[in-house]
Amino acid sequence: MTAKILDGNALAQKLRADFKTRAEVLAAQGARPGLVVILVGEDAASQVYVRNKVNACAQAGFYSEKISYAPDVAAQVVLDKIAELNANPAIHGILVQLPLPKHFDTNALLEAIAPEKDVDGFHAENVGALMQGHPRFIPCTPYGVMKFLAEAGIDPKGQEAVVIGRSNIVGKPMAILLLNAGATVTVCHSQTRDLLFHTRRADILIAALGRPRFVTEEMVKPGAIVIDVGINRLQDGPDAGKLCGDVDFEAVKKIASAITPVPGGVGPMTITMLLANTLEAAERKLGFSR
Ligand code: NAD
Repeated sequence: MTAKILDGNALAQKLRADFKTRAEVLAAQGARPGLVVILVGEDAASQVYVRNKVNACAQAGFYSEKISYAPDVAAQVVLDKIAELNANPAIHGILVQLPLPKHFDTNALLEAIAPEKDVDGFHAENVGALMQGHPRFIPCTPYGVMKFLAEAGIDPKGQEAVVIGRSNIVGKPMAILLLNAGATVTVCHSQTRDLLFHTRRADILIAALGRPRFVTEEMVKPGAIVIDVGINRLQDGPDAGKLCGDVDFEAVKKIASAITPVPGGVGPMTITMLLANTLEAAERKLGFSR
């Protein structure tokens, strides 16, 4: 079997075209969707992510703005800015790029964002709503994975789903979404005793652990759907400097029924779902329901 390659760029392009049309409808009513991204510090990867987010918004016809602070900025300065943005009716989404420098209380900052503008879906109120099965915002990366599954005609209902990774950003919300969709979900992590036992049972395997090419052919059940969330830069070997996922793509694609590549899989979908959340926030504010 050779797996169907799930193309994140193509799906992202299709969704973004729809978002652009919806943004035009809002703009015509004087309510152009608006996102502000707050960046603290000089982390190179964060700078690239923020630039991509702001550019994607602009391309979709949204208002977007980056606010940058030096790494040693006082937390209160950022909190004051968040309070100002919370009160600004032209801004529908506020995102604080993580990770923050060590002197920040990340949780306190995330909780300061108005829940109805928390387009990352990290505020406790939004996490609770997701848990209860009526989400306001779904965290962008797992939201993108669910879109992939839907687009590929894969219904998680009744399937064995295994998620490797239990972070608040990816693993945990991913597990909840699959559970809410009717899958039987197992969450594996760094303390899991027999990872192979679990992964080999998976009809849907989600790798979100941040270890290059960790998931090998023998860890995958033939015919499984494999979603690779990992983004790793290879340090050595012939591919040094290149990006790769958490899955050994070349080997696993021979036995899986569907697989996402890295790059070009989950990555473009994450930013796309940030646009979706910003748009949904703006639409909700105008009283449009979906
Ligand atoms: P994280 O470091 O916060 O969490 C990693 C998780 O993997 C932890 O729960 C840990 O217990 C588990 N883990 C680590 N080693 C393991 C092992 N050997 N066996 C089993 N479990 C193990 O990472 P994160 O923020 O959840 O991100 C995970 C990966 O996804 C990273 O590569 C990150 O770059 C990538 N990521 C990609 C996107 C995207 O848009 N595609 C978005 C977010 C994160």
